[in-house]
Amino acid sequence: MNTIGHLINGQLVTTSQRMQDVYNPATGEVSKQVALAPKETVEDAIAAAQAAFPAWRDTPPLKRARVMFRFKELLEQNSDKICQMIGEEHGKICHDAAGELQRGIENVEYACGAPELLKGEFSKNVGPNIDSWSEFQPLGVVAGITPFNFPAMVPMWMFPLAIVCGNTFILKPSERDPSSTLYIAQLLQEAGLPEGVLNVVNGDKEAVDVLLTDDRIKAVSFVGSTPIAEYIYATASANGKRCQALGGAKNHAIVMPDADMDNAVNQLLGAAFGSSGERCMALSVAVAVGEEAADALVAKMQTAMKNLTVGEYSDKTNDFGPVITRDHQQKVVGYINSAEADGAKVVVDGREPNISGYENGFFVGATLIDGVTAGMQSYKEEIFGPVLQVVRVNTMEEAMQLINDHEYGNGTCIFTRDGEAARYFSNHIQVGMVGINVPLPVPVAYHSFGGWKRSLFGDLHAYGPDGVRFYTKRKTITQRWPSSGVREGVSFAFPS
Ligand code: NAD
Repeated sequence: MNTIGHLINGQLVTTSQRMQDVYNPATGEVSKQVALAPKETVEDAIAAAQAAFPAWRDTPPLKRARVMFRFKELLEQNSDKICQMIGEEHGKICHDAAGELQRGIENVEYACGAPELLKGEFSKNVGPNIDSWSEFQPLGVVAGITPFNFPAMVPMWMFPLAIVCGNTFILKPSERDPSSTLYIAQLLQEAGLPEGVLNVVNGDKEAVDVLLTDDRIKAVSFVGSTPIAEYIYATASANGKRCQALGGAKNHAIVMPDADMDNAVNQLLGAAFGSSGERCMALSVAVAVGEEAADALVAKMQTAMKNLTVGEYSDKTNDFGPVITRDHQQKVVGYINSAEADGAKVVVDGREPNISGYENGFFVGATLIDGVTAGMQSYKEEIFGPVLQVVRVNTMEEAMQLINDHEYGNGTCIFTRDGEAARYFSNHIQVGMVGINVPLPVPVAYHSFGGWKRSLFGDLHAYGPDGVRFYTKRKTITQRWPSSGVREGVSFAFPS
């Protein structure tokens, strides 16, 4: 059976005793095994990254950027292969995988601007013959820990920028779909990255805990579920590391009575069910304002959902694929059961999708639940499946209160034709990423990505300008070159 190992100091290695099965979620069959790195393997990777750091730190940013230009070309040349790897292990349809890869490549493009991004700040004559400047120096060895749902994009939120900033990197991808991530790292090696600058260790908690506690790791970026994000942030911080830990979500869309309902339905279909709802920005709750809007929304959704097709990744006519594991499939079905038991109405039921030829796959069909209320477990918790819940309210204020009271604050959207309402909403809503008639407001690579409340632990968002700040430390130098022959007097007053 195909075994997936680690990339350490430019070499593929498989040193582990412990292995974990990797599934094709469409068939339910084990397709590969991934090695789970023990402590010693992670320490080898850290040592390689530590050894590579001094030379990489001193490599001019322009030369570091040139590696990223070549990397971008290789990603584009090999995009079909990468999307196939994603499809085989994650299950998302090839057009969806291509979109994820493209958003990852955009982060590489941003990283290509390293010379500009690292220019620093300069002030002449801050005092007599004194100039001052701030520069942004790399931190050293930094680590990234990533989730299963974007095996190409989320790692590329992290390592391209960290590396062009002069750091060396240890990446710990999800053990559930590790192949595309490892292959992407190999492409960066092929693009000319010196050995040891990017290392990949596959593994689970054992590997992660080394990254969180080893003194040689200076910063940790994490993306995953909230309980783990909270643990990562607390442990990394307690061990003196800079940390940004992005967590889970429950993204609400407000559907106002004046919204273009057909447009809202089209947008909701893609945002709720695309990638089987396994996106941290998936819209999983539609808050309909007024009974008329709610009835129209539910009726139109019900009709439109009849045309959705669920299936295997390589068939481009499919709208979305399976969820990641059998356990997760059962968990999603459990949430639908609990909503029903709590008194909500399952309007479109995806609990038994019955995909011909893929009877053992981890499929859940698109599901619409009406009459959901804030007290229900299915409303409070992240489902991470193809389930859209409808909450009915009377006013926009009520809708906003619901969102602001929720534990998560990752993304949200309002569907309306009223500019004043939209402006009020974006100004007052307690959520980090806001869409106005845009269902998945994932910031472009030259902005930064991050939620509020328990969707992000830390101060700086991922990638973009915040990413540059996260992966560098500011140093401010104040310099005097006195004119020859001028001697400074003694002063005990604070310099001013
Ligand atoms: P997860 O939290 O289970 O795993 C994420 C990473 O943490 C993996 O690499 C995993 O190996 C590691 N991990 C798991 N358990 C651990 C433990 N006990 N100790 C140390 N490390 C551990 O998340 P997932 O299921 O892979 O991904 C889905 C979750 O990620 C969802 O909650 C989703 O909302 C979230 N997510 C958030 C964002 C965001 O930007 N906020 C983006 C993508 C996904």
